[in-house]
Amino acid sequence: MSGRNLELDALLTLGYGLYIVASRKDTRLSGQISNAVMQVTDAPPRLAVGINKGSLTHEFISESGVFAVTVLAESAPLKRIRLFGFHSGRDTDKFSQVPYETTALGCPIPRDHALAGLDVRVEQTLDCGTHTVFVGEVVGARILGQGIPMTYAYYREVLGGKTPPTAPTYRASAAARPKSKGARRKENSAMKKYVCDVCGYVYDPANGDPDNSVEPGTAFGDLPDGWVCPECGAGKDEFSPVDADAELAL
Ligand code: FE
Repeated sequence: MSGRNLELDALLTLGYGLYIVASRKDTRLSGQISNAVMQVTDAPPRLAVGINKGSLTHEFISESGVFAVTVLAESAPLKRIRLFGFHSGRDTDKFSQVPYETTALGCPIPRDHALAGLDVRVEQTLDCGTHTVFVGEVVGARILGQGIPMTYAYYREVLGGKTPPTAPTYRASAAARPKSKGARRKENSAMKKYVCDVCGYVYDPANGDPDNSVEPGTAFGDLPDGWVCPECGAGKDEFSPVDADAELAL
């Protein structure tokens, strides 16, 4: 096996859960979805989490030295995952939209769709380029509900969830939709599909977006100005026409 022979699909066989990692800065709160959470020692109990350096939660954890992990239940709706996974705390006050409780270390734990809440004090950090791995001791742990933990595989394969570019498991090569000359010539076609550059959602005019009152047969160009990606909330200007040749790779 060498670096020149990377079957990246092999990485997709790794198993993950799905969590909300949250922190605070003074009185401000920030949280995001993470699949990169693992227990690394038992005595004392320690967790490691991987967080993108560009996220507000990264900034808050770095400054406060504390974070909380909420273990999501499989019953958590996509809407909740999108709120915490596809919106930045710089633009959206996520914790004004969900009930939560505050841990002893002052971090927020959303109460519904949660199986457990863990309160963590950072002990070490590891610089991993785009991400930082924070390792910390679990100083508080509570069961919040009964059920099956949400897994990353369930989110992707059963709920049809997407992966944002900031996630450690995001693959730009899989999400890239190169535009050929032929595709550009066809961009005016009324039934052309468009892909969300943020999350990979594909708008198909044949299906419309019935959940948001868009009838089947509505061309992308005829969508209302306020229409946003139903997966991640991105605006129409974040969509690109789907290359007919690349579509097979979606
Ligand atoms: Fe999207």
